[in-house]
Amino acid sequence: MSFISVMQSYSRFDLEEYLGKISDADIHKTLEKDKLSEMDLLNLLSDQAIPYLEKMAQKAQKLTIQNFGKTIQLYIPLYLSNYCSNECVYCGFSKKNKIERKILSKEEIEKNALEIKKTGIKHLLILTGETPQITPIEYLLDAFRILNKHFSSVSIEIFPLQTEEYKLLQKEGVDGLTIYQETYDMAAYEKLHLSGKKKDYLYRLETPERGAEAGFRSINIGALFGLADPVKEAFFTGLHASYLQNKYLGSEISVSLPRLNEAEGGFKALFPLSDKKFVQFILAYRLFLPRIGITLSTRESANMRDHLISLGVTKMSAGSMTCVGGYLEGNNAPQFEISDSRSVAETTRILSEKGYEAIFKDWQ
Ligand code: SF4
Repeated sequence: MSFISVMQSYSRFDLEEYLGKISDADIHKTLEKDKLSEMDLLNLLSDQAIPYLEKMAQKAQKLTIQNFGKTIQLYIPLYLSNYCSNECVYCGFSKKNKIERKILSKEEIEKNALEIKKTGIKHLLILTGETPQITPIEYLLDAFRILNKHFSSVSIEIFPLQTEEYKLLQKEGVDGLTIYQETYDMAAYEKLHLSGKKKDYLYRLETPERGAEAGFRSINIGALFGLADPVKEAFFTGLHASYLQNKYLGSEISVSLPRLNEAEGGFKALFPLSDKKFVQFILAYRLFLPRIGITLSTRESANMRDHLISLGVTKMSAGSMTCVGGYLEGNNAPQFEISDSRSVAETTRILSEKGYEAIFKDWQ
């Protein structure tokens, strides 16, 4: 059974009707349970659960400390290339945008690595646009070999690959895979991805599984909030994470909740996700999946990030640049604007003030 079968099992389920009937008693019952069902997740994502945020926060904090201690793993992104053959209407790197295109040379990769290394961070996420002809596997392997000398963990957020291709990267030592479905709503997906290989919804949906089958230690998934109905997006992201966690015991599964930020092209969120619902979704994920990793990027403001430290989040990016090779020049167009521009040192200091330890390197 693949995840699409799980989604299909909900094709006749009237989500709106269910949401409309959730009562206070249902929320109470959900909050009393230790192990939550899929309907419990929906209860906690619903507007009816908003008056219970404080109670959800208390439970989420307790579960996070039980499973992860008072630690937050820090990572930093490095964009290798902004060439892209796809036309995603919400992205600054979309092929239709007239931006300067750039790909880092081996020398530039090394120089960026040395600059990032000064921060002390040992977890690196490398990103590219989606043009395999410009950044083929050989280029990625060369990049990895350079970066592997400087970092204890390198993960990828690149174009989807076949399992055998992922295996090549995993055998070299690439540690994790981040791949966002963007939206789980098939009709919205079709409208928002105008051209390119990314139009293939199913191929993308199955990508985390190919990564897990290839043996990546960590798999990070998510929807880009702002593209479709947020409760449905949050629900199917949660189900997807649960499905992966149950099926691939060797991989640590995480979810991210990126909210659409301003980018080249000027696309505005069609379904803005409020701060309150954003926090609610994080709490709901922690209660539904106590061992899931929850990742928070610098798309969120410093204030929001500081408040979420103790409420379920386990990984945070810090000191991020979202343009290609940004740690040296930083003058080409970013994929999206970040909201928290604090340095790694500042982020570490805030964590420490809140009694949390910043994890720079958690394994070898
Ligand atoms: S979201 Fe990814 S695939 Fe789409 S345009 Fe941006 S870089 Fe390309």
